[in-house]
Amino acid sequence: MLGDREGPLVSTAEHVLAALRGMGVDNATIEVDGAEVPIMDGSAAAFVAAIDQAGIVTQPAVRRFIQVLKPVQVKIGDAMGELRPFAGGFRAEVEINFANKVIGHQTYAFDLSPEGFRREVARARTFGCMNDVARLWGAGFALGASFDNTVVFDEARLLNAEGLRYADECARHKVLDVIGDLALAGLPLLGSYRSVRGGHKLNNAVLKALLADRGAWRVVESETARRPVRGHVEAGASAVGGLVAPAYGPDVS
Ligand SMILES: [Zn+2]
Repeated sequence: MLGDREGPLVSTAEHVLAALRGMGVDNATIEVDGAEVPIMDGSAAAFVAAIDQAGIVTQPAVRRFIQVLKPVQVKIGDAMGELRPFAGGFRAEVEINFANKVIGHQTYAFDLSPEGFRREVARARTFGCMNDVARLWGAGFALGASFDNTVVFDEARLLNAEGLRYADECARHKVLDVIGDLALAGLPLLGSYRSVRGGHKLNNAVLKALLADRGAWRVVESETARRPVRGHVEAGASAVGGLVAPAYGPDVS
């Protein structure tokens, strides 16, 4: 354990949203009994298992989506995120480039499907550099972080004894975060998202920029996720009401 203190963690709610979105659940009630969603093992695996256990019910209703109609890009410092039109459902593509040489440069692209999410993304854990984790503790954040729920690197090596679940686990976790962050749109997105050196704050900023531009998206409906887009449905202003703009702490994944 890095520490045995208990306390709030950053952005674990997005891991639950990622699990729901990843598994194709678009109608669920979430009740949280406590100040924060538990981090579990730092990934979405436990939430996927819980969804499996509860089962998914197909409802007699059309599914609604937000379709991206034109590119929207946001830059924050040396980070860049963009949403673009995409005919194949939803794709997330991330590039990370850490000064930490053990993490280094990684890219990962993922076309969203429940099977793919379960197999390739859901198990990727939260990660951090030892000095960042120590700094967060000093500022009162991430007090529950430990080797049980965070992949931790120092300048020379991975510190977790059990090793990585994927060679590019960090980039995959960033994709997990993208899926959760963009779920805050209120409806599933049809489009492709790409980020370079991104994080929660950037993802949220790109989503807000998309929704703020009424020419950049429309709401479409479909009977199944695999047969999307049955024409224009409505102006879509109601979807904006579903947008939640969380206040983030330091950019922990
Ligand atoms: Zn995360």
